[in-house]
Amino acid sequence: MAASTALASSNSRMPRVTIDTEALKANWRTLDALNGKARTGAAVKADGYGLGAGLVAEALFEAGCRDFFVAWVEEGVSLRASLDGADRRDARIYVLQGLALADVPACLEAGLIPVLSNLAEIAAWGEGLERAGCSAPAALQFETGMNRLGLDAAEIPIVKAAQAGGALDIRLLMSHLASADEGTEQREAQRLQFLAICENFPGVERSLANSAGSFLGEGYAFDLTRPGIALYGGRAGAPSDGKLKPVATLTAAILQVRAAKAGEAAGYGAAAKLARDTRIATVGLGYADGYPRAASGAGVPLRETRPGAMAFVAGHMVPVLGRVSMDLTLLDVTSVPTDLVEPGMRAEFFGANVSIDAVADAAGTIAYELLTGLGKRVERVY
Ligand SMILES: *Cc1c(COP(=O)(O)O)cnc(C)c1O
Repeated sequence: MAASTALASSNSRMPRVTIDTEALKANWRTLDALNGKARTGAAVKADGYGLGAGLVAEALFEAGCRDFFVAWVEEGVSLRASLDGADRRDARIYVLQGLALADVPACLEAGLIPVLSNLAEIAAWGEGLERAGCSAPAALQFETGMNRLGLDAAEIPIVKAAQAGGALDIRLLMSHLASADEGTEQREAQRLQFLAICENFPGVERSLANSAGSFLGEGYAFDLTRPGIALYGGRAGAPSDGKLKPVATLTAAILQVRAAKAGEAAGYGAAAKLARDTRIATVGLGYADGYPRAASGAGVPLRETRPGAMAFVAGHMVPVLGRVSMDLTLLDVTSVPTDLVEPGMRAEFFGANVSIDAVADAAGTIAYELLTGLGKRVERVY
């Protein structure tokens, strides 16, 4: 199924990301199998890590997922509309951040569960419920070491008072790991602090682990895990994540193939100086599509410390040549037999052959940023 952008059509030469929903479901099942008793949720914020929250969540629902996490109320409202089938109503949608009084009606109408991270949000939620004359479940997020969002343990008495007053129906307790993917002491300190906080709310479900945390064993899984990047095939920093499959494949069409001579240069700033005769494929993908300029083959600061990104053309790994520009990227296809490369064919920029993490490393970033940065004009195909 081809979905989305008004600009693209399925035979278009525009950039395309192909989303393998079977691989997505398989990744969810792999993660779910890691933590026997705990349920496995899914972070589908930022439009399902750039891949399309509605279709991603639909596939995950089919795999068995019932707990979905988005960042904003607006994202939750549109996710609820996507998961509209009768049985889909029992999907729980948690909104991770920024609840304001004005958001409460939309939350109630869409049946969203706000994650309240400070006393002002708790107050806004309480007031919104009072105005609406109803009650509804909420989640609480506690700060345990990240210093980002969350209630402090010292605020527990105030929270307990709100709970006793009937204004707060706490359905889930949360905190977030700062260094789940690094073998530091911080994560264990966070786990212990979270445990101590949860003792104040007996019987309430608990959730701590993101993707990397899902690999840390049952001590971290609690009742519900919240993986994101691992579902989408990105490295979660755990040894066992070799089992996770790539989900997103970014391809773009070759628009022209040129034979350039040794001594010439290619691209902006003449950053790529050609030491030998070079065949150059000009591909219709650029930083405006979210393919990072920092992945360039030359002419950007990172090239002083590490090689540029590779792409995959007709069965061959080939380097990005010179600077990535806004709408175009050059590939050095000299190593690919001439008759195998022609305009119209597609080059893979990440996917099964080019790991998204390798591209991220070359560009000095992480797979999260590559996925969520995919541009609007990249066609999504499922
Ligand atoms: C984004 C996010 C997740 C998922 O993180 P991954 O590293 O992608 O698994 C889980 N919990 C919270 C609170 C988040 O913001």
